[in-house]
Amino acid sequence: MNFLEKYKEDFRPYDEMEKDFIDDDLIWEKLNAHENPTKEEVRAVLKKAEECVRLEPDEMAILIQNKDPETIEEMFALAKTLKEEVYGDRIVFFAPLYLSDECANNCTYCGFRSSNTAMHRKTLTMDEIEEEVKIMIDEGQKRTILVYGESPHTEVSYMVDSIKKVYATKTKNGEIRRANINAAPLRVEELRKLKEVGIGTFQVFQETYHHETYKKVHPEGTIKGHYRWRLYAMDRAQEAGVDDCGLGVLFGLYDWRFELMGLMYHTIHLEETFNGVGPHTISFPRITPAKDTPYAENPEYQVSDEDFKKLVAILRLSVPYTGLICTAREKDEVRSAVLEYGVSQIDAGTRIGVGAYTKSKMANTMADKEQFTINDSRSLDDVVYEICKRGNIPSFCTACYRAGRTGEEFMKVAKTKFVHNFCIPNAILTFKEYLVDYASPATKELGEKTIAEHLAQFEGSAMHKKLTDMLIRIENGEHDLRL
Ligand code: SAM
Ligand code: SF4
Repeated sequence: MNFLEKYKEDFRPYDEMEKDFIDDDLIWEKLNAHENPTKEEVRAVLKKAEECVRLEPDEMAILIQNKDPETIEEMFALAKTLKEEVYGDRIVFFAPLYLSDECANNCTYCGFRSSNTAMHRKTLTMDEIEEEVKIMIDEGQKRTILVYGESPHTEVSYMVDSIKKVYATKTKNGEIRRANINAAPLRVEELRKLKEVGIGTFQVFQETYHHETYKKVHPEGTIKGHYRWRLYAMDRAQEAGVDDCGLGVLFGLYDWRFELMGLMYHTIHLEETFNGVGPHTISFPRITPAKDTPYAENPEYQVSDEDFKKLVAILRLSVPYTGLICTAREKDEVRSAVLEYGVSQIDAGTRIGVGAYTKSKMANTMADKEQFTINDSRSLDDVVYEICKRGNIPSFCTACYRAGRTGEEFMKVAKTKFVHNFCIPNAILTFKEYLVDYASPATKELGEKTIAEHLAQFEGSAMHKKLTDMLIRIENGEHDLRL
């Protein structure tokens, strides 16, 4: 039986569905109905967004279609305020770990696609994973996202073993404390196995919500060619108890305005089906060039920097309690701008080749092993320094997920704006650990000031005393202190 044949039974219920929750015509109807919103219409939506509630599709369409410079500025300003209210001024750091570039699919935009003969294929062994993870830990990483192709080499047993290996790897200063996954859609029973070994967020990007375009870029006869198997991946995750779900769109495949509406309908579907639990994170990569991948050189719907900033602000306003992730695919100037408007998580010190952390000791990039190219190749320490310079505090926190504050529980905390009670204190503690264990002298000097400024926010409270005591314990060599 070939790889695809194995999915025949899994696909059947989706093939039998009359329709799915993405209605392309309805999305265009809504966008067209709000073609040229007035200032008043935009301001009415912004007024509602101030309440920190999820917007409705019509309201999102008004923001998307707004072309008036004055109210666009107001959108940016409110996005900034909401971000500070819901997430504070901390920025969460992570780094991806690519485990395999073997892939049976043939997505036109991806360097890993099966027809790309320029790619040297590799799946890491358990010893190689350990080697990679040790380097990541020694650079200061605490959170990772494990990235897999879709092939018989990386079926769920490999995923389980690799996750276990990541968590079991330790160096003198610590370990990876949260392993998220970016992988192909899985079956419920497979997801349960991942849950058992402690995965954090499970990410599957729909790439494009537009049915026609989806078909065009994901050839028929591949597993990924099945739109609905992918669209309902997060329903299966929720069913399996994996309640931190990450949605995403690959921008450049279709009109960004349509894709934002697709993300909104996906969010609503999850909230309605799973007791108010929407996505934990949303990612919005733009296509970047990949080796021997003509499609990625000049994508038809590539999003301009200006629209990219706008779409981030609109997401922040529309789904205020969902984490927004911006990866090193973006240049540092663009990343800096979108940090203002809503991004709460970034990667840094990123290598995206399979085995690249180990190899980067010799060379920085490995084009024949990369899925695409990155535009921000600064070290973790450099990015941490810059984040402090902006007045933000870097965070390596993994507390919520380890304390069970995920899914519905997490949503309650986030929605009621109490994230500050956990997030800023835990940012202070985990950043202190980074400064003690890994920072360069310049980052350490600046970082200590950042910590002092953030600690001052708690002046006069019991939290101030608690944090001061914990900071001394970290200075004295204790690790992994958290609230
Ligand atoms: N193979 C799994 C899948 O396709 O879902 C998971 C990993 S895939 C390596 C991770 C994501 O990388 C994809 O979902 C896609 O959005 C993104 N990607 C693929 N090609 C890209 C490119 N040329 N530029 C930027 N991102 C790309
Ligand atoms: Fe494979 Fe994912 Fe690349 Fe598609 S995007 S070819 S599924 S690795």
